[in-house]
Amino acid sequence: MSRDNVVKIFKKSLWVFHLNTGSCNGCDIEILNVFAPFQDAERFGVKLVGSPRHADAILLSGPITREALPRALRAFQAVPEPKIVLAIGSCACGGGIWYDSYNIIGGVQRFYEILREKLGIEPPPTFYVPGCPPKPEAILYAIGVARGLLAKKQVAEIHIESLEEAMNRLREVITDEYHRVIEEYVLGKPLVRKVVLKEV
Ligand code: SF4
Repeated sequence: MSRDNVVKIFKKSLWVFHLNTGSCNGCDIEILNVFAPFQDAERFGVKLVGSPRHADAILLSGPITREALPRALRAFQAVPEPKIVLAIGSCACGGGIWYDSYNIIGGVQRFYEILREKLGIEPPPTFYVPGCPPKPEAILYAIGVARGLLAKKQVAEIHIESLEEAMNRLREVITDEYHRVIEEYVLGKPLVRKVVLKEV
């Protein structure tokens, strides 16, 4: 199933199961942080559940250790289809600093190779959140992408070659109040090559 189709399916809510496959607990603290009242991921329809059988998604933290592999396989198979995986942290994405340790299988891609080769299972759409550990905002961002919440907010990149063209563009989108600041700080520079404007 494609990533776009899965995003449509989970548009209303997403129940997630947190699976630690050998993390140092740095990523786990940030995952819990996302569900604490300050970040409050539940406001986006995301709920942490205690059983993989109730989940739509796996929040995977840590590299896959040899010890955790059988447990990870069982948890993975217990999550009903369609499902998605959010690989949280550099270890889950690619093994991190432990990638060549004697007791590490690797990151989620290595796990998927085992799924394909040994069990004939095609891996689900996966969202990668690198970082050691990633910030809670980055995890929330990934959840937003998985839920299709970010499609409405597009960032328009406007490539501009001349200063005159840049100023004309800026005048279209900013108020008079900011003209003086722009004249003072932007015009002082020899050339504006790229201006990024947020759609409002
Ligand atoms: S990415 Fe960093 S914080 Fe997360 S499990 Fe690996 S070492 Fe720990």
